[in-house]
Amino acid sequence: MAFKQFDRVPNHYSGEIIQRIKDFRQEEGKRSLAPTVLRIGELEVLVPRHFGFCFGVERAIHMAFSALETHPDRDIHLVNEIIHNPLVNEDLRARGIRFLYDSDGQRQIQESELSSEDVVLIPAFGTTLDIESSLQRSGVDTTSDSFRENYDTTCPFVSKVWDRGEELGREGYTIVIHGKFGHEETQATHSHTEQHTKTLVVRDAEEAAHVAAYIMGRSSVEALVAEFGDKWSQGFDATTDLQRLAVVNQTTMLAEETAQVAGILREAMRERYGDDQIDKHFADTNDTLCYATNWNQNATKALLDAEPDVAVIVGGYNSSNTAHLVEICEQVMPSFLISRAEELLSATQIRHFDIHAKQTVVCDDWLPELPTRLAVTSGASCPDVLMNCVVERIASFYGYGQTDIESGLVSLALHEPIADPV
Ligand code: SF4
Repeated sequence: MAFKQFDRVPNHYSGEIIQRIKDFRQEEGKRSLAPTVLRIGELEVLVPRHFGFCFGVERAIHMAFSALETHPDRDIHLVNEIIHNPLVNEDLRARGIRFLYDSDGQRQIQESELSSEDVVLIPAFGTTLDIESSLQRSGVDTTSDSFRENYDTTCPFVSKVWDRGEELGREGYTIVIHGKFGHEETQATHSHTEQHTKTLVVRDAEEAAHVAAYIMGRSSVEALVAEFGDKWSQGFDATTDLQRLAVVNQTTMLAEETAQVAGILREAMRERYGDDQIDKHFADTNDTLCYATNWNQNATKALLDAEPDVAVIVGGYNSSNTAHLVEICEQVMPSFLISRAEELLSATQIRHFDIHAKQTVVCDDWLPELPTRLAVTSGASCPDVLMNCVVERIASFYGYGQTDIESGLVSLALHEPIADPV
């Protein structure tokens, strides 16, 4: 898959160490998943084959910086965070871009404060039709080709899900979106899909099991309404709208979880309608995860074969794809999600975001003694410079400086895959 270069992505988002690692792997096909090994003295830093900025994020940042360059005299707004990374959002704010909604979805700039002279950017997650209507009331023509081309940064992989939802809706399926209800992308997908068919958002296998229980006649409509009443489209009637189902995703969910959700719902339909009727009641679709989610998750799984002692994952705390990388890593080793190198408080203390408790916590004795093998990766919305600083800071905790890092960089290697047992 050849992707366009986005030349307005600023250089200050890149980092020398990470760039050298990327350059080292550049000639190789994307399918090789062996992690890269950076040896700094007795410290081995393992970097997965795929990490960091994806196509959609680079494209969105490129469009935001192009708008700043093209319109120095106009007010520029973003509907909300362009991507889920605090550094990038702070950077855009510092350059004068104002956000219409805060990260809790509260409106900060009213319809009447905007005019047709203003530039408004739609974030990479896309936005809801309600918000588009509001922009139009403010005089922003969101339907013009020029708007779509220059200011609508919705990732094409997200709009592809909307197209798929529309297609399945036209075939008479109710759409189950496997996603996080409050996430901007899921809100946008829900909004677009419900134009064509009834839509329901299911967060995980547990929620899918509740829907399945109703389909199989093991729970009441009241129980379903209590749980999903605010997560389905207007006018949703469980007695008639759960007879033909198709699953699509928020593009950044965990691949295995989507397979589980689809499997649970398919099995419920099979039990209710029988094997010979299953094709009429459940659309066997492939998941609609994007390429970056698949690559990053697969590369992270490949990293685990190298048996690192600890993992540090860099990214925004509200970044869905980053949280899933943490979930993959924490199955086999202590794993810490941090937003920037400053969260590495010392060689003995780390402040990290606990994705389960949904809060930052400080953990002691997090760094293993040498010799050790450490995995470092980042989510699809994380600038390389942040991962770069993390590698430098960890190396410094072991007393290694730039010269030691440089020697590691000149002898970068691939981690040898563990041979299959004969
Ligand atoms: S994670 Fe996927 S869907 Fe989201 S912006 Fe990146 S490429 Fe697009």
